[in-house]
Amino acid sequence: MATTTTKPTPAETSPVTYRAAVVHKFHEPLTVDEVRAPELGPGQIRVKIEASGLCHTDIHAANGDWPVKPTPPFVPGHEGVGRVVELGPGVTEVANGDRVAMPWLGYACGVCDYCVSGWETLCLEQENMGYSIDGGFGEYATAYAHYVVKVPDAIDPLDAAPLTCAGVTTYKAVKVAGTRSSDLVAVFGVGGLGHLAIQYAAIAGGRVIAIDLIDEKLELARELGAEFTINATEKDPAAEIQALGGADQAIALAVSPRAFEQAYGSLRRGGKLVFVALPADNNVTIPIFETVLNGITIIGSIVGTRTDLREVFELHAAGKTHVTREVRRLDQVNESIADVEAGRVTARIVFQL
Ligand code: NAD
Ligand code: ZN
Ligand code: ZN
Repeated sequence: MATTTTKPTPAETSPVTYRAAVVHKFHEPLTVDEVRAPELGPGQIRVKIEASGLCHTDIHAANGDWPVKPTPPFVPGHEGVGRVVELGPGVTEVANGDRVAMPWLGYACGVCDYCVSGWETLCLEQENMGYSIDGGFGEYATAYAHYVVKVPDAIDPLDAAPLTCAGVTTYKAVKVAGTRSSDLVAVFGVGGLGHLAIQYAAIAGGRVIAIDLIDEKLELARELGAEFTINATEKDPAAEIQALGGADQAIALAVSPRAFEQAYGSLRRGGKLVFVALPADNNVTIPIFETVLNGITIIGSIVGTRTDLREVFELHAAGKTHVTREVRRLDQVNESIADVEAGRVTARIVFQL
């Protein structure tokens, strides 16, 4: 009788260096360099990247737009998806060959009040992929095994990448908005985040109004389930939405304080405004009197937890969501950033490694 032997998969030799897109100085083009692959510490894994989405946050990072800045040189990217190729000491959660997603929340302490109450995204000890930890814009990335999320086999890695930030963030925003059936939900900004927000709001039972400045994006919004669309260069979204009865919830995803103010103005009494976008210009003007008299709630929402991301993957694997993406090479990173800034991208750019 013939015997079959299963050959063990040869462990991939760990890379000494790898190609990655690096920010050397704020506001300057990234360069694709050979960077040193760090040795793995306890709990860490090495992931060979297959796909990595370009979030507007990466552009804010590369420009040093926010009060808390990353320290160049660094590798952006917090929508990295790939296969585990090496395990650091003590890792048991994942195995070599597993496909994982490496979201913005790259590390949290696991024991503080926030971490143990389902709010790990508020942990004060947190580290962030593509910001304080080198991220997904490279052939490899190093991550903490506790904070990656396994990607179901049914999901194309090119879809999994945008879900890892744009998906989980807007899924969470709809959760905290508390959208219920028949609610009117205004989604301001139909970019990488917005095109998924429309779908999560509709899944929750909301009737969606999408607002953007670009007609092609509004066309996509209608294809993805928006019932009403408003081009804010042509009409005042607040007045238009008030004419529909006012929004129960408005989700601010446009990189513009003006859009936040319009989102506020679109609410009906008792409405909720969810702040998600993070424009470099950090201030909005909101009236106190109307907020009090109208019983308005304003909520800040930062990404989502590992559980939220698992739910996002589950919905996608079940065919409930559609990811609109354009695939590019990593060496197109600078033109890709320019295209996102100019609104020339329908929804999300994904780098295929
Ligand atoms: P994007 O560039 O893909 O999308 C932004 C969209 O807003 C574009 O379609 C643009 O045309 C539209 N827009 C711009 N100005 C507008 C206006 N005045 N009115 C209506 N629409 C307008 O960006 P993205 O990747 O979707 O990210 C959006 C923002 O969310 C960024 O600031 C990003 O940093 C932030 N973000 C926050 C979180 C979080 O956890 N809070 C997570 C991810 C991204
Ligand atoms: Zn913590
Ligand atoms: Zn992001």
